[in-house]
Amino acid sequence: ASLFAQVEMAPRDPILGLNEQFNADTNPNKVNLGVGVYTDEQGKLPLLKCVAAAEKQLLEAPKARGYLPIDGIAAYDKAVQSLVFGADHAAVKGGRIATAQAIGGTGGLKLGADFLKRLNPDAQVLISDPSWENHRALFESAGFTVGTYPYYDAAAKGINVDGMLSTLKAAPAGTIVLLHACCHNPTGYDLTEAQWNEVIAITKERGLVPFLDMAYQGFGNGIAEDGAVVIKFLDAGLSFFVSTSFSKSFSLYGERVGALSIVSETADESARVLSQLKRVIRTNYSNPPTHGAQVVATVLTTPALRQLWEEELAQMRDRIKLMRTALVDNLKAAGITQDLGFITRQKGMFSYSGLNAAQMQRLRSEFGIYGVDSGRICVAALNDGNIKAVSQAIAKVSQ
Ligand code: PMP
Repeated sequence: ASLFAQVEMAPRDPILGLNEQFNADTNPNKVNLGVGVYTDEQGKLPLLKCVAAAEKQLLEAPKARGYLPIDGIAAYDKAVQSLVFGADHAAVKGGRIATAQAIGGTGGLKLGADFLKRLNPDAQVLISDPSWENHRALFESAGFTVGTYPYYDAAAKGINVDGMLSTLKAAPAGTIVLLHACCHNPTGYDLTEAQWNEVIAITKERGLVPFLDMAYQGFGNGIAEDGAVVIKFLDAGLSFFVSTSFSKSFSLYGERVGALSIVSETADESARVLSQLKRVIRTNYSNPPTHGAQVVATVLTTPALRQLWEEELAQMRDRIKLMRTALVDNLKAAGITQDLGFITRQKGMFSYSGLNAAQMQRLRSEFGIYGVDSGRICVAALNDGNIKAVSQAIAKVSQ
C-alpha cells in the first residue's frame, strides 16, 4: 500500500471553507459576511496610510535581513508591551512581563498553549461557549482537554453571566481560562466592568490561569477602553497570559503580526519564563519574520504615524458602529418588527444575528449572502452599497 493510503480527508475549515464557496459563486450581488475582515465603504480591504508611510520609510533605508532574535524585534516587543500594559505601569517598569513577537494572534495563542503544556500538562482548558473555532483546536493540538464555560444566552440576547461565573467557581485550581479581552468572537457581547471584577475575584480565589485573547483592540470602544481589562488583571496582581493580534487593527492580515505576553510575579521569574518561552519558539519556527513587526514597531514608536494609526483605527471603529445603526434601520424598513437593540449593544466586527443554520443557508443559496451557520455575520463588511439588499434578504428568510 502507498504511504498515504490511510490518510483521510480532513473537514474543511468552516470559515475559510465558506470563503472558497464565496469565491466560486457567480452571483454578481454576492456579499461576504463570513470571514472576519474589515472592508471600507467601497468594500475594499484598506491599506492604512500609517502602514504605507512606515513601509515607504523602511524602503528608503533598505536593510539586509539577518535572523531576528528568537523572541523577535526588541523595539517591537517593547512597543507592544507599552501599548497593552502601559509604558509606566509598575509591572512593565519592574520587568515582570515577558513579551515575544508571534506569528499573528494565532501564533501567540499557540506559543502560550505549548508553554502551558510544559508547565502544567494535566491542566484543563476552558473556553467560552461559543468561541472562535480555532481556540479549541489550538489547545487540543497542544495536548490539552478543552471544555467550555457558558457564555451566550440566546433568549436574553446577551451573556449567561451566572452560568459563566458558577462554572469558573467550580473549576479546579490551575484551570486555564481563555477569555476574550474585548469584542467577543463570535457573539459581539462583552462583559461589563462589574462582571469582569467578578471574574477576576473568582480567578484569584480559585487559582485559575487567565489567558486573555486580544485580537480586536481598538475595534470596540477605543484602544485604552478595550485594553482596560488587561490593566484590571494586572492591578489585581495576577499572573496571566495575553495574546495580541495586529491583523485587524493594522489591516495587516497577511503579515502575521502578533505577540504573546506573560505576566509574572517577579522580574527573576519573568527572566526564567522568557527563557522557556524562547525554547518553545526555537523548536517551532526558530525565530519570527521581519517585515510586519518592523512596520508595526515603526508606526507605534513614531509619534506622527502613531497618531495617524489611532485616527485610522477610530475611523474603522466608527464605521462599524455606523453600520450597526444602519443595519437596525434597514431591517426595520424591510419589515422586521422584533427588538433589534442587541445589534448596537454588540461590540467589534461581528453580530450574532440570532438567525438559525437553515436561514443562513437560505441567505447563501437564494441571495449570495455568506455568513456563518451559527448566525454570525461580519458587520465590518457591510457598506452603503450592500446593506439594503442584506437587510431585505434577512427579512425574507426571517418570515
Ligand atoms: N483570536 C480571535 C478571537 C480571533 O478572532 C482571531 C482572528 N480571527 C485570532 C485570535 C487570530 O488572529 P490572527 O489572524 O492574528 O492570527
